[in-house]
Amino acid sequence: MTPHAAPASERTPAPAACWSCSGAVDKDGLFCVTCGALQPPLPADHFARFGLPAGFGLDVPALERRYFELQRRMHPDRFAARLPKEREYSQQHAANLNDAYQTLRAPVSRAEYLLALRGKPMRGSGQETVDDEEILVHAMEMREQLAEAASPADVEAILKTAAEQAKSVERDIAAAFAAGDLAAAGRGTLRLKYLHKFLDDARERRGRPKL
Ligand SMILES: [Zn+2]
Repeated sequence: MTPHAAPASERTPAPAACWSCSGAVDKDGLFCVTCGALQPPLPADHFARFGLPAGFGLDVPALERRYFELQRRMHPDRFAARLPKEREYSQQHAANLNDAYQTLRAPVSRAEYLLALRGKPMRGSGQETVDDEEILVHAMEMREQLAEAASPADVEAILKTAAEQAKSVERDIAAAFAAGDLAAAGRGTLRLKYLHKFLDDARERRGRPKL
């Protein structure tokens, strides 16, 4: 792991002493260096769970490495012969890691989480504003195109265009978060949500034998 400068993510500082023997706890706040006991999970945002800086332009391969490494260290099977409290903590750690990983690995849920973390959560569906109208119109036009597609090649071409648009929107979202423009990040996230939903539906249609 390469060390990073002060991360924007936040976690509660590790307690100074182990719950079991009052010995010192390792720097990650996970294990006691004296008796080896697993420590209870602390409140932390999803990025901090992996020691990664909070941002949309997340290093996804680094996230995956950290997730599998921590999931292995926290696996409840490893604590089968340990104290009941450690078994309970390992289950809590594993659940937290899973939740954080599932949220951060996909761009839409990562962007939504980051917006909420920055204090500007997405509006619920059906609460879109006039600002979002262009996005909705565009989404409808794509659905019409898909409905009118006459051949598998047409569907492929539509899929390719939508996938390229999604990549481009991801770059826009990253730039918006980097610039601290949460309104633009929110619009980009809504656009990406529609694009992903559309891609899922179009792929499903491609999978149908009829076409
Ligand atoms: Zn201890």
